[in-house]
Amino acid sequence: MAEHDCDVLIIGAGPGGYVTAIRAAQRGLTTIVVDAQPPGGTCLNVGCIPSKAVIHAAEEFHSLTTATQPNPLGIHAEGVSVDWAQTVAWKDGIVRRLTTGVKGLLRKAGATLIVGEATFLDAKHVQVATAHGEERIHATHVVIATGSTPVELPFLPFGERVISSTEALALTEIPETFVIVGGGYIGLELGTAFAKLGSQVTIVEAATQILPLYDAEIVAPVRARLAELGVEVLTATKALGLTPAGELQIDHNGEEKELPADKILVTVGRTPRLGNGIERIYPRMNGPFIAIDDQCRTSITGVYAIGDVTGEPMLAHRAMAQGEMVADSIAGDPRAFDQRVIPAVCFTDPEIVHVGLSPARAKEAASGYEVTTATFPLMANGRALTMGSESGFIQVVARADNHLILGIQAVGTDISELSASFALALENCLTLEDITGTIHAHPTQGEGLHEASLLALGHALHI
Ligand code: FAD
Ligand code: NAD
Repeated sequence: MAEHDCDVLIIGAGPGGYVTAIRAAQRGLTTIVVDAQPPGGTCLNVGCIPSKAVIHAAEEFHSLTTATQPNPLGIHAEGVSVDWAQTVAWKDGIVRRLTTGVKGLLRKAGATLIVGEATFLDAKHVQVATAHGEERIHATHVVIATGSTPVELPFLPFGERVISSTEALALTEIPETFVIVGGGYIGLELGTAFAKLGSQVTIVEAATQILPLYDAEIVAPVRARLAELGVEVLTATKALGLTPAGELQIDHNGEEKELPADKILVTVGRTPRLGNGIERIYPRMNGPFIAIDDQCRTSITGVYAIGDVTGEPMLAHRAMAQGEMVADSIAGDPRAFDQRVIPAVCFTDPEIVHVGLSPARAKEAASGYEVTTATFPLMANGRALTMGSESGFIQVVARADNHLILGIQAVGTDISELSASFALALENCLTLEDITGTIHAHPTQGEGLHEASLLALGHALHI
């Protein structure tokens, strides 16, 4: 059996794991990362990247089909169709380029990628089942970055008709009727995309609002757009199971109904990927997740955990930031992981961005000071109008006394691109005056942040 010894062993080469490996190797640590799948994890293979490719293709197709009808732009298109097999091949090509790129980055940094499934023997030893047989690795430091898998509802087991996001992103045909159980991130991103591709989409959400973690105000333009696209949204509705005919049985306001569906996509959250002997080392748990401190240390000395396996927010950029920090800590520069500014983006139509505190959360958190909120509507922004998009807004939340920015949220077409400037403002503890004193290029939607900040100070220029 091949034996390896290293400073750092990372289990899982998702965004958390591969970033840890690159940084650890850059810092001169002997580093091994293990994954049975192509590197990139959920994000590159079956998550962020393929879903955004499908969302983009759906938007392109939808704008062309819209142009077959009279429209304000005067653009006319005819005979629009989609060769879905080619779209899927294009999406798969992007995934392949990126996963191959990650292999190259690992190699360049000097980290070793071992392809196989790792099983813990104890906290310092792991056995890997590879195509060439078993290999054993001893490490001084171990990082668990095993990610998450889709939650399966016991009364709707995954199979031919009932699918998870992984199968939804690999469909060979566009379903005519598509029911989605769970109106969160994945349900809404993919539901919108498939509606634009021509599916009759119904969203079944147990809570009283889709995207229940967001303010109703910011979700309203998304909800309006879903209605325009003909998506039926059933809130406060529970899925009960499948009828013998394969319809989805639901409880909608106390009334039982059946929804016909070619495919039923279940997107009710994700669960940490444990097993493989992790239980053998008994890390302290935080509910279903591995408990970590602010340096991502588990309760076992020398064992760290990062990314989805440690719980919400399950976002690729959180996993990457944790990984970078853990590698630096192991290399001798310990620092704490600061959760205060983790931008969240929902790639719906329009897109949603949220950083820091919402107005309600800021008021709850305030002690001894008032909170001020200002909202600039994008219908007053020149760039938004030239993009044919009037719905949405940029909202800034700040302390009323010293004008420190506490949160920024926005909803609008392509607004995700502003997430970096929103995060910069919060990470660097900027005030409203810092924003209003910054020249914002014209015409851009970024001017909306400038205007929202001016509005909060009581002297908006364009509203
Ligand atoms: P993962 O990416 O899940 O990687 C874990 C890796 O560990 C996997 O490759 C797995 O094969 C490997 N592994 C597990 N156990 C073992 C073992 N025993 N031995 C060897 N290898 C093992 N996040 C965003 O920030 N933005 C988005 O737009 C976004 N879109 C998404 C869309 C979809 C459809 C989905 C499903 C998720 C999306 N996410 C998005 C979430 C994002 O994918 C995850 O937060 C991110 O991938 C978590 O990274 P991770 O490194 O913790 O785990
Ligand atoms: P989610 O937590 O975003 O949404 C799940 C939804 O399902 C919630 O609205 C919940 O109320 C609802 N729900 C739960 N049980 C239900 C039931 N029995 N019947 C009907 N509705 C039910 O989860 P997700 O959409 O599966 O996404 C998983 C994770 O992946 C997210 O937490 C997110 O962190 C990540 N993700 C992020 C992005 C992004 O950053 N753009 C995109 C996709 C996924």
